[in-house]
Amino acid sequence: MERKINFFDISLRNEYLKKISNTTFDVIVVGGGVTGAGICLDSSSRGLNTCLIEMNDFASGTSSKSTKLIHGGLRYLEQFKLKLVHETGTERAVLHKIAPHIIKSEKMLLPIIRGGKLNRFTTKAALFIYDLLANVKRVDRFKILSKAETQYQEPLLKKNKLLSSAIYSEYRTDDSRLTIDLIKKSFSYGASPINYVKAIKFIYDNEHKVIGVTCKDQFTNNSIDIYSKYIVNASGSWTDEVLESKNKKLVLSKGIHIVLPKEKLNIKQSIYFDALDSRMIFAIPRGKTVYVGTTDNKYEPGINNIRVSKREVKYLIDSINNCFTKFLDFKDVISSWSGLRPLVNDGKKNTREISRKDEIFISKDGLISIAGGKLTGYRKMAERVVNILVRKYKKKIKSKTKNILLFDHDFEFCKTKSYEYGISNSTFNKYYNIYGDNCLEIFKIFKKEVNSTNSEDKIIIAEFIFSRRNEMCQSLLDFFSQRNSVVYFDIERINDYLKILEKYVIEKNIMSAKNWDKELNDLNNYVKEITIFI
Ligand code: FAD
Repeated sequence: MERKINFFDISLRNEYLKKISNTTFDVIVVGGGVTGAGICLDSSSRGLNTCLIEMNDFASGTSSKSTKLIHGGLRYLEQFKLKLVHETGTERAVLHKIAPHIIKSEKMLLPIIRGGKLNRFTTKAALFIYDLLANVKRVDRFKILSKAETQYQEPLLKKNKLLSSAIYSEYRTDDSRLTIDLIKKSFSYGASPINYVKAIKFIYDNEHKVIGVTCKDQFTNNSIDIYSKYIVNASGSWTDEVLESKNKKLVLSKGIHIVLPKEKLNIKQSIYFDALDSRMIFAIPRGKTVYVGTTDNKYEPGINNIRVSKREVKYLIDSINNCFTKFLDFKDVISSWSGLRPLVNDGKKNTREISRKDEIFISKDGLISIAGGKLTGYRKMAERVVNILVRKYKKKIKSKTKNILLFDHDFEFCKTKSYEYGISNSTFNKYYNIYGDNCLEIFKIFKKEVNSTNSEDKIIIAEFIFSRRNEMCQSLLDFFSQRNSVVYFDIERINDYLKILEKYVIEKNIMSAKNWDKELNDLNNYVKEITIFI
């Protein structure tokens, strides 16, 4: 019987690459964001031998730079995108069921202000339709609050313009963790996902049909050919680049978020509020921070240069200062992120008006590309792509992902088990909220493998070992961004964590001092990018 390799242990990378280049797959997916990850899981769970290649780290593109909401998109009602709102709205409950550890229901407060985008009547009408289209349970349907009730609910809102508010149901998530969980799940169905492998050019047969991809191992620069009958391009903002087409299919829209310490904007819950122009933006508490966003502007220059600008930060800060009683300044911003929305070009000039609908296009050479869409719609998008693939293979297997749970053990089981590993309540909550039942593996390493008297040191070391062994985490930057988001939400402690890890890594000979310095340099450069605005 063929030996199964744990594709997620970075020390076995050469073995994975050998296995991948010696296999002819049924499907290759280019792109390890949420779209590619969803396709990889759907396809492998329907029995197709699937390989996924990602040129950087999994979820390092837009799928770690979103507002991290699983939402129907209230604002799409404005554009009468009823079908989109219905699909994404009803999808929220499905995603919550399959990944309750990272898709959590969240009440959103929507203040109604004098001169704001929505008045009491339009808010009521919009939320009524929204709840209806999304099949929201009666108990969770929206409520209108009076001015006094709103002030009680959120004392930081400025009183002068406030008229009343609405509270409605949304879901929040962790976009990069969702993507990684999907990729790991696909592996349990036999898929072969790998990061830091870039698709460079397609390989064609005599009839000019794509039958493979020549790739570059980003660490060694070695070339690898991977073969498959069908190839899916799920490269998000890079779709046009991968397609090499002259007619651009996409328009890219840039969106940024800023992160503030909780004490600077100590809101009690998530708020969807009026920005300075006619848009609305979110303020969402997360741990010891609150993040605020987003912007939506057409992106022109090269896509690797997406730094957050002072102008964008000012727009968000001024909008906060206009709505809340707090007065914030640039120096209050402790971190940020910036992402590109891959929007399907429909001829509209203003990116805010371009639909967030996804589209599948099949090129003459057989390449299947999917672009557009939203994080919330990833599962349905994947289903549509894999429906095409199974039809091509003349199979009649329906998508199963609606019922594929992204966890094996529930909260109660994990909590009980964590006591056996000597884990405190707060540590359990922190790690369960990031890793779901994978936290048990971290706690096992904590208990059995790490020798240190300080339990704070021990747990960060255990997390680091886990991510390298079980999550294909290749660098310090991958660890502190896509794996646990410390660069965004716990940036003030990053140097403490680094001191602990450096000592351990060098002592145990896990990395040479030279490699450590290189990884540290990459991490520091990224930290500079997200903390210094241009
Ligand atoms: P990506 O995540 O960008 O993945 C594409 C991947 O392809 C990248 O990782 C890239 O490295 C890889 N790749 C590219 N070229 C190659 C190659 N040659 N070889 C190998 N790999 C390659 N949606 C929601 O539902 N809720 C939200 O709250 C929300 N907020 C958003 C806020 C902002 C600011 C933005 C920008 C988007 C938001 N979205 C939201 C939309 C959502 O984030 C995106 O639709 C989704 O993440 C896109 O995923 P993707 O996999 O298509 O793209």
